[in-house]
Amino acid sequence: RQPVHVVGGGLAGSEAAWQIAARGVPVVLHEMRPHRSTEAHQTDGLAELVCSNSFRSDDAAGNAVGVLHAEMRQAGSLILSAADANQVPAGGALAVDREGFSRAVTAALADHPLIEVRREEITGLPPEDWDKVILATGPLTSPPLAEAILALTGETALAFFDAIAPIIHFDSIDMGKAWFQSRYDKPGPGGTGADYINCPMDEAQYHAFVDALIAGEKAPLRDFEAKTPYFDGCLPIEVMAERGRETLRFGPMKPVGLTNPHAPDVKPYAVVQLRQDNTLGTLYNMVGFQTKLRHGEQVRVFRTIPGLENAEFARLGGLHRNTYLNSPRLLDATLRLKADPRLRFAGQITGCEGYVESAAVGLMVGRFAAAERLGEALVPPPPTTAHGALLAHITGGHLEAEGTEGAPRSFQPMNVNFGLFPPLAEAPKAEGGKRLRGAEKTLAKKKAMAARALADMARWLDTP
Ligand code: FAD
Repeated sequence: RQPVHVVGGGLAGSEAAWQIAARGVPVVLHEMRPHRSTEAHQTDGLAELVCSNSFRSDDAAGNAVGVLHAEMRQAGSLILSAADANQVPAGGALAVDREGFSRAVTAALADHPLIEVRREEITGLPPEDWDKVILATGPLTSPPLAEAILALTGETALAFFDAIAPIIHFDSIDMGKAWFQSRYDKPGPGGTGADYINCPMDEAQYHAFVDALIAGEKAPLRDFEAKTPYFDGCLPIEVMAERGRETLRFGPMKPVGLTNPHAPDVKPYAVVQLRQDNTLGTLYNMVGFQTKLRHGEQVRVFRTIPGLENAEFARLGGLHRNTYLNSPRLLDATLRLKADPRLRFAGQITGCEGYVESAAVGLMVGRFAAAERLGEALVPPPPTTAHGALLAHITGGHLEAEGTEGAPRSFQPMNVNFGLFPPLAEAPKAEGGKRLRGAEKTLAKKKAMAARALADMARWLDTP
């Protein structure tokens, strides 16, 4: 059999290659690192996590990304099995040792008899004799390939900003001031309820910190970047501070569900949290502290945080432009490029957002490409599944299904969420048939949507 060519060995490309090979179809995976890197990658490992080490909530009953995790496990996902095998404690979240995770993915792909990994940059449209190609080159697609894609689609690319948070060496944190605790002592998978490091601030310290963030020198944006919006789920910390003095206290620095053992009677006014970044527990990342402050400024300002006065930084934060396609217009229902159907797209470049979503799109696209190679029918997952909901967002399929005219006018990248799922046929009721209200009703709806998703995903996977 002819191979399917997958370009880009990130979250999406690695998962796509795995799914194709699992169907018995050979794959050539082309990854440009280490010969050429991106502004954000630091290693030559496949599926490198460029910023946070979190795959977010693992709650498969009440959280849409938790449902996506569960569906990916049902489908034999390589990304999820490598994540599960390399977990670090993180409250209710699935977080991983980034190096162990990337090593596990790299080894699994290298060892698979049907997968050949080629370390090379693809610098233009793939050769004509590659009849099935998946482009999974991510938000930082190398410029020559990005230009070739744009020339082919005849569109300007859409873009937004994503930022990176700093990582700190554990032994430089003053645990005489900081302490271990998860908010409300909530234990996550493999966690104890004391998974985060907390650094407390009083009111004066908080306001001085907000002032320092706003006044701190930022890395300048180039002209073409000035109009590019931020992704809302990943705003730089100083941009959040500029939106209002209390924004951080109600966001990443909220002091709720925490008691400082060094001063149990004093309620902290704000708290900076750090999450374990590697299995050894030697590195911790600053949760929600993605930033475009200049490097020197980051060290100066973040060392004013109580407990971080002597912090040693393993990596500082940064900001990167993130490019994606106008997929509802350019791609068909199984993510083939309408202008050249031998090309499929997967991952963040399609306009999903996040590690898990990128891998999930890779999972679907890998299965579509394998089915096509095997001469099977191409059936997308139903929109009631988290995968199907994500796919409908990317392709604009939900709008067409509802008879709304064409694709959305402004296509924005999005994390998976219950708002993308079709409504339930019937509202869930309490025992005894009583009507539910408020938070109870919301939770029951999420649970019912999650259960429907997992049952429909199982049916989709079982369909020959
Ligand atoms: P990638 O994982 O980037 O993989 C693309 C691969 O293609 C790379 O390995 C690259 O080297 C390779 N490549 C590129 N061009 C070529 C070429 N021409 N030839 C061969 N290979 C090529 N998501 C989160 O969930 N949490 C976060 O904290 C987070 N932070 C982010 C921070 C930044 C700065 C950016 C840019 C994105 C961030 N994202 C985050 C968003 C997104 O989830 C990640 O970018 C994710 O890695 C996307 O997966 P992907 O497979 O589409 O792309």
